Amino acid sequence: MGNGISEAIKLAGVVGAGGAGFPTHVKADSRVDTVIANGSECEPLLHSDQALMLEYPKEIIAGLEQMMQATGATRGILALKGKYKEQVAAFRTLLPAHPDVTIVELGNFYPSGDEQSMVYECTGRIVPEGGIPLNVGVVVDNVETLYNVFQAMKGIPVTDRTVTLIGEVRIPGIYRFPIGTTVAEAVRIAGGTSVPNVAVIDGGPMMGRITFGLDGVIRKTTSGLIVLPADHPFVIRRTLPVNMELLRTVSMCCQCRECTDLCPRYQLGHDLEPHKVMRAVITRSQEPPYQITQAHICCLCGICETIACPLGLSPRNVFAMVRKELAAKGVKNPHHRKPEQVRTSHAFTKIPKERALARTGLTPYDGHPPYRGQVAGIRHVELLLSQHIGAPAKPTVREGDFVNRGDRVAVPPDGALSAAIHASISGRVAAVAGDRIVIEG
Ligand code: SF4
Ligand code: SF4
Repeated sequence: MGNGISEAIKLAGVVGAGGAGFPTHVKADSRVDTVIANGSECEPLLHSDQALMLEYPKEIIAGLEQMMQATGATRGILALKGKYKEQVAAFRTLLPAHPDVTIVELGNFYPSGDEQSMVYECTGRIVPEGGIPLNVGVVVDNVETLYNVFQAMKGIPVTDRTVTLIGEVRIPGIYRFPIGTTVAEAVRIAGGTSVPNVAVIDGGPMMGRITFGLDGVIRKTTSGLIVLPADHPFVIRRTLPVNMELLRTVSMCCQCRECTDLCPRYQLGHDLEPHKVMRAVITRSQEPPYQITQAHICCLCGICETIACPLGLSPRNVFAMVRKELAAKGVKNPHHRKPEQVRTSHAFTKIPKERALARTGLTPYDGHPPYRGQVAGIRHVELLLSQHIGAPAKPTVREGDFVNRGDRVAVPPDGALSAAIHASISGRVAAVAGDRIVIEG
């Protein structure tokens, strides 16, 4: 039965909606005892998952049950913040029909939605260094992913994405956009920008990608589009070139170890001490390799950069660069220890979400934008062939073909980790070029 579910998920092109887009059929093919529905939405400013949990609680629980069935799990956990009162209430009314599902109410901290933090908060298990929840018998799926699993079991592929569209736009809101909608069109639908020059964060402010202007398209993983003035201090800080980061690190890092004390991976008991990696970078010491390779087990959460460092340095960015250099040299992650327990300071170093938001300087953009539902009338989409971890999907259509919404237009290459892509609007294939398929409605 599990294979049938994972096959349906694969056909529908379901990938992790809350993170990097790991193909969900691979998780559905694993054997675990627990599946966690991740409704934490710990990134400041985002409200997409909260809206979806209010709109589709039945569907999300059904998707959770299907993932439990696929993986053989006997326990399902709905993990969301206790402060999401309406969503918790909506799920509670459904629980009597789902005796194997429980609710865990999480604290309002960042990064409560990080898979490894979530596994510890919900089960008390610690994922090994460089590992994944599967290593401790758990699968974690974002709530939108589970909604998509539910749809997949009805034969409906992934064609839309819930997006929090806020910042310098005139009609902020939570919209359901066809995947492949251009950012420029999404912003036009949201009333246009209220400042002339903008930068856009795809995702949340802590971990999202920033691009200048309105280039870009909505992907399966686009949980938010945060439109900011291009000269906002947060944008300038986050887009500092890496050579500047290095110069600042070498001249300023005082080894205070604040970055280590607040690092969620360190607090889980992992051997990641950011201040020591920074020291190795400063002294240009590749020895002992034990220290520099700790960069491999950083989850790029950004706490060190946005919250911890009193000097405004960014271990996160430096480590991203170090990881690239290590990869180029073929140095793999040697850290695979499994901690027995978290650090004694673990409970006292969680970052309140409001504090995280305040440190970004984006508090003026906070609020609860309304859910505006499905966006109709999109007549141009650009479907990226790589919206997931793994190999790009292989196009199955040619320029000039006509497709209906929901038709498969690209498939995983043989034997590769990848995900299918589907037409999100009906129309004519205007181009199959480079990294995308363009459809004109
Ligand atoms: S980004 Fe910084 S705080 Fe987050 S895991 Fe990496 S080193 Fe730790
Ligand atoms: S918090 Fe900043 S100054 Fe302190 S050790 Fe870390 S990078 Fe260096």
